Order: sequence, then structure tokens, then C-alpha cells
Amino acid sequence: MQELTHYINGAHVKGTSGRFADIYNPATGEVQAKCPLASTSELETAVAAAQAAQPAWAAVNPQRRARVMMKFVDLLNRDMDKLAEALSREHGKTLPDAKGDVIRGLEVVEYCIGAPQLLKGEFTDSAGPGIDMYSMKQALGVTAGITPFNFPAMIPMWMFAPAIVCGNAFILKPSERDPSVPLMLAELMEEAGAPKGILQVVNGDKEAVDAILQNEVIQSVGFVGSTPIAAYIYAEGCANGKRVQCFGGAKNHMIIMPDADMNQAADALVGAGYGAAGERCMAISVAVAVGDGTADRLLEKLVPKVETLKVGPYTSGDDVDYGPVVTAAAKANIERLVQTGLDQGATLAVDGRDFKLQGYEDGFFVGPHLFDNVTPDMDIYKHEIFGPVLSTVRVNTYEDGLKLAMDHEYGNGTAIFTRDGDTARDFANRVNVGMVGVNVPIPVPLAYHTFGGWKKSVFGDLNQHGPDAFKFYTRTKTVTSRWPSGLKEGGEFSIPVME
Ligand code: NAD
Repeated sequence: MQELTHYINGAHVKGTSGRFADIYNPATGEVQAKCPLASTSELETAVAAAQAAQPAWAAVNPQRRARVMMKFVDLLNRDMDKLAEALSREHGKTLPDAKGDVIRGLEVVEYCIGAPQLLKGEFTDSAGPGIDMYSMKQALGVTAGITPFNFPAMIPMWMFAPAIVCGNAFILKPSERDPSVPLMLAELMEEAGAPKGILQVVNGDKEAVDAILQNEVIQSVGFVGSTPIAAYIYAEGCANGKRVQCFGGAKNHMIIMPDADMNQAADALVGAGYGAAGERCMAISVAVAVGDGTADRLLEKLVPKVETLKVGPYTSGDDVDYGPVVTAAAKANIERLVQTGLDQGATLAVDGRDFKLQGYEDGFFVGPHLFDNVTPDMDIYKHEIFGPVLSTVRVNTYEDGLKLAMDHEYGNGTAIFTRDGDTARDFANRVNVGMVGVNVPIPVPLAYHTFGGWKKSVFGDLNQHGPDAFKFYTRTKTVTSRWPSGLKEGGEFSIPVME
């Protein structure tokens, strides 16, 4: 049985706590490796290495730090196939989707190459007689991030690339379900030129997370995962005086107007609802059809597409639309929620319950499910299912659809499908959701914009990547400087004001 390691101070280090988590091959259900779960003292070893390495790294000029990112991009491209394969093997997603996971992270690394420009401060010449004022963006010091299983390449890179290019050291606590790619990324960063101790991977569970939250050296914590854990980490981290940003769960609504192109809407829904087995925080999980006629026309197109989705292991290559879910527990939770949907009166328009794949009977595969006649009081509507289950809600008017999306506790992403510019514009302006698609089902902003939801999908003020990341990972210092031209006599006793 393969035993994975931590990556501390430039070396793979075996776990010493004696505690391990099982890493499954989700396609076969077999345990394929063990992930060490760090103790507080293992985390502290990493913090000490980070603290020792960080000041010299912050003193490296931004252009040189950016060059490490340039080299890292090359290495990611060189190792793309290897990274994607390792990712699919532990996560279960298809190989093209695993490459997308790496590429969406790589794009943020590319953005970080602009650090010399992005880290420039402001300067006011002659703010007063002989007085100049300027601001600097300085690194925080040692920073940390805790990431979810569903994007084991992209989300770590969204955090560590801006943190490191800003001059910080970064400790990554990835998901214990699929930590191999994060370990590979740490090796590649070092090959690209990051000094030892600047990017470290400490594997673990709640014990390692609590050690991060309580550690006095760590200045900031980034978190992406489920909302209850996000709320906990935000509260604890803030109480301990850290800068914290936490991104949580989602229930993304797609409004389908009567004038929408139904073929386009149905295609968008199969991709956004079932891609990555629905294990995406930007997956569409609720289709909101405006008018019964719209719902009927949509389902007529959608049902055959959902029924013919190809589900299988990533080793089948391009011939698979989505793979297994990540664990047996995730599968059981999806099945439980599907049963509540039936018990509470929803119609199962496509029933994926009996799905079996020959040769993979013990894998964590879930067949595609499509519900119709879902209402807001049902558990399948209220909760994030994180599986290949799409719920259709029928509403009478556009205003009813908008209200539905607005009343849900989550506010990560949403979309509207329509041919009417005025409706689309009204929706984008009024909806209280952080990322909006107009005829685009998964509106994940590109690297140079920022990513973040609203409501219970986020805790904190700044978004991920784009300009916000450079704010999150730096502190502003403002200097007021005067070089007197001659001798001054005496002190000034009233507060200085600019003339
Ligand atoms: P999770 O909350 O179970 O785990 C996330 C991280 O928290 C992991 O590193 C895990 O080890 C750690 N953790 C788990 N339990 C903990 C505890 N009790 N105390 C401290 N730390 C703990 O989430 P997951 O299942 O890995 O990921 C799926 C969730 O992430 C979904 O809810 C999804 O919507 C969300 N997500 C959100 C975004 C976003 O940007 N909003 C992006 C991706 C995923």
C-alpha cells in the first residue's frame, strides 16, 4: 500500500502521527494509498521552515518572483498528462476534465506573472511642502490554505500562486481524499525556483486545520469547502486575529425563459448539471422553467440527453461524460437525498438509481437523476447534493424565478437562458448571487477577474484570484516623508493638516 507524505522544507517527509486517511480509487472502490494526517507538532515544523524562509523570499524583487511563476507554467504544461492522470485516479473525474482543473489553476499562475505591475504602490509627490506620501504592498509573512477534494489542482493554485508571488510563504492543507496532485505541485514549484519552505504541503484533517487556526505565526487562512466548515474556520480564524477568506457550498439556479433556445438550454444543463458527476461548486443543480409550456419543452429535450449520458472510469478516456463520485459516503448521501425527493413528492423524470457498471460494481458510480415538480420546501431543493442530480422547479413568471434564486441561502453562481436582452440585463442587475451567466451555464470568471459567491457561499470580504488576491495576500503600508531643506526649530503640537 502506497503511503503518501507531507512536503516540508523541500523534502517528502513521512507522517509521524500514526494517523492515516484512506485514499480510494473511486472507480473500483479500492483503497489505493494512505494519506498521513498531521499532528500539531508536524504543522509547527512546517511553520518554522516557512518563517525561516519567508523574509529572504519577500526581499527577492517582484520580477524575479514572477519568473518563478513563468517557469512553473512551463512545468505544468510539461507534466500536464501526468498531473491529470494522478488527479483522475484519486478524484474520479474524466481526463479532459482533470486537465481543465489544472489549466484553470495555471491561468491564475499566468496572471501572477504580472506581479511587478500589480504590486506597485501609489505615490503622491509634494503632498505638502517638502512632503511625499507613498504606499507599499508588503507580504503578510506565513500564510495557509485549506482546500476541498473537488478541484485538487485549481484551488490550491488559486491560493498559493498569488500568496507566493506577493512574497509570502504558503502552507497548503489539501483535501485528504486526493492529496497527490498538491504534493506534485509543491515539487514543481521548487523545480521552478521557489526556495525550500516557501510552498509546503501538510496533509491532515481537523487536527491540522485547528493547528493552523491556533498558530500565532500564520497570518492568513484561505478556505474552500462546505459551508458549515467555512463558517467554523472563518469564526475561529478571525477570533485568533487572522485575515480569513472562506468559500462555501452552493445551489446554483438556471432560469429558463420561454424564449430561450431549448436545444441550447438542454445542452447547457447536461454539461453544467452532470459534468464532474455534479461535484462542482458552480454546477447547476436547479433548472427553473418559467411557465409549464417551457418546462414541458425543456424536459422533452433534456430527458433523452440525460438518459444517454455515458458514465464510467477515467481510463475509458473521451468516451465518458462523467465518472464516479469521490467516496462511498458521498454516494450514500446522494442516494439518501434522492429518496427524500421521492418521499416528498417530486417526480423522477430520469431514474439513475439502478445504475451498474460491469466490472466496476464496487466503484462509487451514481447514475444520472433528473427530478421534475420540485418545490422549495423539499430537501433536494434546500440542500447541496453534490452529485449527478438535477432538480426542475416550475414557476409561473420571471419574477417568481428571480425570487426563487434570491431566496435561497446560497449565492455562488446562477444563469439565465433567454433571447431577450432586457430580461437578461434585469436579472444580472437584481439577482443577489456573486457570479451570473447570461446564456452561459457555468460562469466561472477568468483569472484576471475575481471569483466569489454571495450569501452563505462566502465568509469574508475579498474574492479569490484577480486583483482581490493581491489585496488579500498583502498589507498596505503608507509612508509620509519629509526631508527638511533647512533646520527646523521646535515641535508641532497640533495635528498636521495639508495647506
Ligand atoms: P469539506 O468542507 O468537507 O472539506 C474541505 C476542507 O476542510 C478539507 O481540506 C477538509 O480536510 C477540511 N475539513 C473537513 N472537515 C473539517 C472539520 N470538521 N474541521 C476542519 N476542517 C475540516 O468540503 P469537500 O467535501 O472537500 O468539498 C466540497 C464542498 O466544497 C462543497 O460544499 C462545494 O460546494 C464546496 N466548494 C466551494 C467552492 C467555492 O469556491 N465556493 C469551490 C469548490 C468547492
